[in-house]
Amino acid sequence: MRYKYCPQCGEKLIPKVIGDEGEVPYCLCCERPWFDCFSTCVLCVLVNDEGRVLLIRQSYGDVSRFVGVAGFMKPYESAEAAAIREIAEETGLEAKELRFLESVFYNEREQLMIGFLAYVNEGALKLSGEVSEGRWFDIDTAVKTVRESSIIQRLIIKAREILK
Ligand SMILES: [Zn+2]
Repeated sequence: MRYKYCPQCGEKLIPKVIGDEGEVPYCLCCERPWFDCFSTCVLCVLVNDEGRVLLIRQSYGDVSRFVGVAGFMKPYESAEAAAIREIAEETGLEAKELRFLESVFYNEREQLMIGFLAYVNEGALKLSGEVSEGRWFDIDTAVKTVRESSIIQRLIIKAREILK
């Protein structure tokens, strides 16, 4: 998203050349540029000790589809902390170890997805209100269960290579 008005004072922004960045919306009142804005999210492939993958179904949006645990990062939070928090909030499970998989820009939603492989214990699930079901899959089935060509599918395939 490109800013048109200053989020701080509401003034209309003007284009200003900022070094290598080229033209950037600029507020003359606050004397600062406003770089294009996007959300940063974490997306996790949860695996247990046997290499099985936990997928969830959300209780809103597309409720029929199994997806990965994901959520928006909060200000001042590291991506790792966000992943641990989202896993705990949505599933009640504790991430023992995280491994960065890759980051992918989700163009449709203007979100930078930071993908992790999260090692968790297969404990009792304590699902949040946003989650209607959590189910463990062997990893090959997990690949086929999520939406074809989705970012989570790409991350599960990557996780499978690591877990081999
Ligand atoms: Zn301003």
